[in-house]
Amino acid sequence: MKYKRILLKLSGEALMGEQSYGIDINRVAQYAKDIQELHSLGMEIAIVIGGGNIYRGLSAEKAGMDRVQADYMGMLATVINSMALQDALEKVGIKTRLLTAIKMEQICEPFIRRRAVRHLEKGRIVIFGAGTGNPYFTTDTAASLRAIEINADAVLKGTRVDGIYTADPEKDPTAKKFDHISFTDVYEKGLNVMDMTAFTLCQENNLPIIVFDMNKPGNLLKLANGEHVGTVVS
Ligand code: UDP
Repeated sequence: MKYKRILLKLSGEALMGEQSYGIDINRVAQYAKDIQELHSLGMEIAIVIGGGNIYRGLSAEKAGMDRVQADYMGMLATVINSMALQDALEKVGIKTRLLTAIKMEQICEPFIRRRAVRHLEKGRIVIFGAGTGNPYFTTDTAASLRAIEINADAVLKGTRVDGIYTADPEKDPTAKKFDHISFTDVYEKGLNVMDMTAFTLCQENNLPIIVFDMNKPGNLLKLANGEHVGTVVS
């Protein structure tokens, strides 16, 4: 197994499936199956999910809402998504713990680093909810931060595209994919991998980022077995 402990980042939008809003339960169930395969290999898995399928602070600010208020709403949206994934993972028989950056005692544990690590060591999948707990940040930053805190070997960023391209492949048919790219090259070429705060955290802490297509069943397993999938930033 190439990685012993990973942090999987899923965007909120990934949970929408073909819908334009909310959570597609079938899609979440598919993800749970993929994650189960990985888990059965003995890999320690932590997960951060975004909230963009429900609420985004920046968009709400543009529509006139106070940014900080809106960002807290966005963080709560990530908890809803986390609970949906937790349910799906438990349905396939995996023990999970949801740890949030904002306390919600009735539904989850507060984020405590040592506790998170202990859960992972015991084979539980740990889901980190409510982002970093701070407005003006993103769940990509939460993913980088938590990955560093728990000493993960890599951040796996599951997206709709199968890696990093020279241009947006959905708009430019001549766009070419990178199999591997350095942090410096991503920066110099102005490529969009994660927001700068998240990206810099990974760069400064030598934490590789792997961008891959989460909607292709089996991709996660290939990654675990050391096969090349998506784009590796290191
Ligand atoms: N958010 C925040 N602080 C964080 C993480 C998230 O304020 O540490 C809010 C922010 O408003 C963001 C929303 O939660 O728009 C949803 O997160 P994100 O946009 O990262 O989700 P994704 O794009 O991955 O679905």
